[in-house]
Amino acid sequence: MRLNCPYCGTRSVNEFVPLGSASPKRPTLAEPIERWIDYVYFRDNIAGEHDEYFYHAMGCRSWLIVTRNTVTHEIIGTKIAREVAA
Ligand SMILES: [Zn+2]
Repeated sequence: MRLNCPYCGTRSVNEFVPLGSASPKRPTLAEPIERWIDYVYFRDNIAGEHDEYFYHAMGCRSWLIVTRNTVTHEIIGTKIAREVAA
């Protein structure tokens, strides 16, 4: 599998470190503990397009959000994570 880093171009996936889903939104400290438990321990198993974090460890050291189809493994797009509004 190959990923397109916006800074480095198309590279082998072996240059990247996956972190996991980019979908969960981190709760604030004021939110109840149940919200934190859900955020830390529970994830949806999505079939279809899904955003995931990847770190370009062997390249520019940027965090990317990779949109991937979890059924077909097609890479739909990549973008720099810090440029995405929180
Ligand atoms: Zn890069």
